[in-house]
Amino acid sequence: DGAIRFENVRFNYDPAREILKGISFEVPPGKSVAIVGPSGAGKSTISRLLFRFYDLTSGRITIDGQDISEVTQASVRAAIGIVPQDTVLFNDTIAYNVRYGRMDATDADVRRAAELAQVAGFIDVLPEGFDTMVGERGLKLSGGEKQRVAIARTILKAPPILILDEATSALDTHTEQEIQSALDLVSQERTTLTIAHRLSTIINADEIIVLKAGTIVERGTHKSLLDAD
Ligand code: ADP
Ligand code: ADP
Repeated sequence: DGAIRFENVRFNYDPAREILKGISFEVPPGKSVAIVGPSGAGKSTISRLLFRFYDLTSGRITIDGQDISEVTQASVRAAIGIVPQDTVLFNDTIAYNVRYGRMDATDADVRRAAELAQVAGFIDVLPEGFDTMVGERGLKLSGGEKQRVAIARTILKAPPILILDEATSALDTHTEQEIQSALDLVSQERTTLTIAHRLSTIINADEIIVLKAGTIVERGTHKSLLDAD
């Protein structure tokens, strides 16, 4: 069910500079934890470590009690869905992009996921609908439309863990609100790690962790952190 634990995690990209200086936190199953902090604090590094892109210097990361360094990277990735800041889509059809990660899904499943993510809204006006090519060889989608495709992909993949890495940061305020409500829908009942710099996007987080220069300097709820300021 996707419980995440970081236990005294230390990490550096190069030996001269430690990026994460022994951080510990957990995201209980189905709960939502947000990590906020200035640029360069190490927030995205946390998500890369969870994907097993790099090995830790010391400490442990577990998913459901299992040390992720002891399982294959493919199985770790299969458990995680990510909506990044700027979704890069494949130069292929919208259907392919939604289906990516669950190639066995039926057309009906793809359509259902697309409807939940409100992708259907902009596809239905396109002559080729789901078969519309996107990217360099096709239609250029707006930032919000690309995020909807990424959300539809995640709904279809239905991973126990969801990472939202500045998923609305590149959007204008109006689009941000629309995408945020779609994200709220996907993160319900799912173990969610949100990386953000705008407090407005993490109002619903069960816990907020403030990271500065690789160290957790504060933790609490949205309300308790605001009251403390
Ligand atoms: P945040 O997401 O909080 O902005 P990051 O986790 O992206 O921070 O980066 C933390 C620090 O690690 C930054 O100083 C960044 O320059 C450095 N860093 C990020 N990726 C690499 C890399 N591949 N090699 C070396 N240093 C990196
Ligand atoms: P696997 O094939 O092992 O299941 P994927 O390559 O499908 O793993 O990756 C799982 C999800 O993570 C996909 O939605 C993919 O878009 C996303 N993903 C993979 N690598 C990155 C990355 N470096 N940055 C952001 N998202 C990524």
